[in-house]
Amino acid sequence: MTNASDSRNPQPKPAATGAMPDAAGVLDCAPLGYCLLEPDVSIRHVNAAFSNAIGLPHAAILGQPILRFVHDGDAGPLGTIIAELAVDAALPRQCELRLVQPDGSAGWVMASLSKMPGGSPWIILQTQSIDDLKQAAASLQKSETRWKYALESAHQGVWDHDFSTNDLFYSIPWKRLRGMAADAPVDGSLDVWIESVHPADREHVLECIRRQDEGDVEFNTFQYRERHADGHWIWIESRGASIEWTPEGKPSRIIGTDTDISERKKAEAQLEEISRRLRLALDVSKVGVFEANLDTGSIIRDPQLLSIYGLDQHDPGVPAFEERLHPQDRDAALARVAAGIASNIPFMNAFRIIRPDGEIRHIRSTSVTFTDSEGAHKLIGANWDVTEDVTLREDLERARQLAETRNIELEAARSRIEYNALHDHLTGLPNRRFLDQRLDEWIADKVDYCAILHIDLDRFKQINDTLGHQAGDAMLVHTAKVLSAIIKEYDFVARIGGDEFLVLCDARQSQADVISLTDRIIEALRQPVPYEAHLCRFGASVGIAWTADGTADAKQSLMNADIALYRAKGLGRNRYEFFTQQLQTQIHHAKRTADEIIKGLEDGEFVPFYQPQFDARTLDITGVETLARWRHPKHGLLAPDYFLKIAEDINALTAIDRCIAEQALHDFSRWETQDLGVPRFSVNVSSPRLREPGLIDSLRQLNIPRGKLSFELLESIFLDDLDADSSQILKDIGALGIDIEIDDFGTGHASIVGLMKLNPSRLKIDRALVKPIIEAAEQRKLVGSIIDIGHSLNIEVVAEGVETIDHAHILRDLGCDTLQGYAFARPMARADLEAFIHSGSWRPPEATVQPARRTVLSDLKA
Ligand code: C2E
Ligand code: CA
Ligand code: CA
Repeated sequence: MTNASDSRNPQPKPAATGAMPDAAGVLDCAPLGYCLLEPDVSIRHVNAAFSNAIGLPHAAILGQPILRFVHDGDAGPLGTIIAELAVDAALPRQCELRLVQPDGSAGWVMASLSKMPGGSPWIILQTQSIDDLKQAAASLQKSETRWKYALESAHQGVWDHDFSTNDLFYSIPWKRLRGMAADAPVDGSLDVWIESVHPADREHVLECIRRQDEGDVEFNTFQYRERHADGHWIWIESRGASIEWTPEGKPSRIIGTDTDISERKKAEAQLEEISRRLRLALDVSKVGVFEANLDTGSIIRDPQLLSIYGLDQHDPGVPAFEERLHPQDRDAALARVAAGIASNIPFMNAFRIIRPDGEIRHIRSTSVTFTDSEGAHKLIGANWDVTEDVTLREDLERARQLAETRNIELEAARSRIEYNALHDHLTGLPNRRFLDQRLDEWIADKVDYCAILHIDLDRFKQINDTLGHQAGDAMLVHTAKVLSAIIKEYDFVARIGGDEFLVLCDARQSQADVISLTDRIIEALRQPVPYEAHLCRFGASVGIAWTADGTADAKQSLMNADIALYRAKGLGRNRYEFFTQQLQTQIHHAKRTADEIIKGLEDGEFVPFYQPQFDARTLDITGVETLARWRHPKHGLLAPDYFLKIAEDINALTAIDRCIAEQALHDFSRWETQDLGVPRFSVNVSSPRLREPGLIDSLRQLNIPRGKLSFELLESIFLDDLDADSSQILKDIGALGIDIEIDDFGTGHASIVGLMKLNPSRLKIDRALVKPIIEAAEQRKLVGSIIDIGHSLNIEVVAEGVETIDHAHILRDLGCDTLQGYAFARPMARADLEAFIHSGSWRPPEATVQPARRTVLSDLKA
């Protein structure tokens, strides 16, 4: 080293002492810089290290004042030290100063100054470069500043616990975040500090500190609440790290930062609150949530979703959504998803899934696409199981459909029942009830009609009686068709009884329209209707109530039509009649009379009168004709023309016939007992009486004397071909010894041949034929012919209506057997007849008929 230094820095020999060159040689080799200063601080000697530090050769340095090579900033302190050394040389002095090199750069050195021992005036300056140290300190300073700013800006407070020195440091931000002043003292002892920690966190905090002290790095970070100077709690996150340890390995120094995380905690709490609510909502709603990464195909499902799909969340092989879809819903559901993803707007979906156990569930879903923070394209959605709802809805729907079906059935049944209730099952026409409804509607002004046609079939009963009910039914069906076809669209036709129909004519028709309609009905119904081998002929009578003239009362109109029908029937069938007031009066009368007939029959007001019949030649009494009379309590004695028609209409004729016949029979047996001299008697028999069931039996019980009684039957009864029943009845009557007499012969146009089949005992020439025989030779001829025919057939001929003796003579001369008429006697009561016969007053005094004529004429005048 010495050599090296010699060769590089040849030093001049020290002037003061002879020992110097050796020492100088040693110093020359030393790594530290040495410089020997004159008392005037000029440089007397330097070693190589020093001249290197200054960057100048020895020659340029020696003799130069040291201050020339010291940084201006350091010259002052150096000068002061040197001055101090001059006063007190006992202690070496030290200072840091910069040595300046020729290029202006400065290097830090630690300078030591001391006096040469032994009273020498020279000063030894020893330098050691501290440039690296200075640079390190500067960079430390720089990074410390940077860290400090970082911590401050992060609102982190620094603490430093050095247990070895028991030095506890707290930075200003540490204090600031607790609301403490920068210069506020801090009592960092655990006992004191823990009091400021939230009671609920203390245990946790102490535990963390304990574990931290044990060196457990897991507990280096913990959170707790500490009271702020203002009194409120702040959340602090404490992060600590051990930086020094005891020889036993226990941390002896821990440095850390405290961060105010109150805001974060608040946000976390809010987030927690939200997510708790969300979780609760999801739990309650049984909504399952999924999040699918559309880029990777990965999918996250929450437990609820897996449970909906009947999947085990621990099962790694969760099948794809598509696989769970019900095959019938798959295409539609996937198409919906595809469309939803493409649209980027929230979309709903509904489909069925099949769970692993085979159960089918109904799922409703709502989903939306989004891009997450990392840019991944995702689909998030919620699914919920609506099976119960769907089942319920399906049940309800089924129930509704069932109810609807039932309603339809009920409605059908109801309308069927209603239809049946309102329609006649045979013809399908509306029935009486329907008519009543329609009349109610009419009354309520919902419909308006101008006329009511009451239609009654003529001869329907005969068809029924002769061809059977099926034939009758066929005629009714035919009639219904005819009527339905003829009436106008808004007219109404109903079948209201056996063979009765009713038409309501729409108010838009005139009276002429109604008449034309009626004519067409009558014309159509008089056409023969084929039935099996027969051609059935019937017809219709129509009563019309014209209501358009202000007859407001529908029910009354109905009765009026009935009255008009009654009249139409009475006037000879196949015709119509309009209702009139006059008609009503007549009908009222008829009605009253009908009631009175019924009552009269009960009270025995119907009595027989007898009109004697005489032998045309001898004028002996040959018999009597019984004629009904009504001893009316108010109107006195009434003849048959007053009551017969009405009695027929109310079916009382049979009762009258029977009652008269019985009385006559009674009277006749009395006469027989009296030996009055009435050989025979006849009664008039109506056609209903002839058809009366049980007639023959009842006659048989009457013990009628044979050959004494005859039934007078109107020629008109036989107009129609006699049916088998009627022929049989006539035979039975004959067998009982009762004669048949044809009444009113010559008016009914019955054929003689037909009449002869009845095997009558007598025929009675009608008084209309008898009356003109005096004036008209033709009539005389006609009557003569009838008499001749009768005789040729061995039938006795009676003339009725013999009003004069002239008539009597002519008839006698024509060969007539028996005479009956006012010329001889009027019909009279039993007692009168008995008196009459006893008197013999009809006989002319001189056994001629001449005087009788006067009697009769005077009788007629009376
Ligand atoms: P009819 O059988 O032709 O009876 C004779 C009618 O002629 C009687 O009328 C009688 O009073 C009337 N008469 C008798 N002589 C003369 C005469 O010289 N000139 C005129 N112009 N008339 C004469 P009546 O009693 O009013 O009877 C009318 C009809 O009533 C009867 O006609 C008969 O068809 C019917 N009739 C009468 N009584 C009964 C009865 O008990 N049962 C039924 N079914 N019909 C009866
Ligand atoms: Ca008669
Ligand atoms: Ca007669």
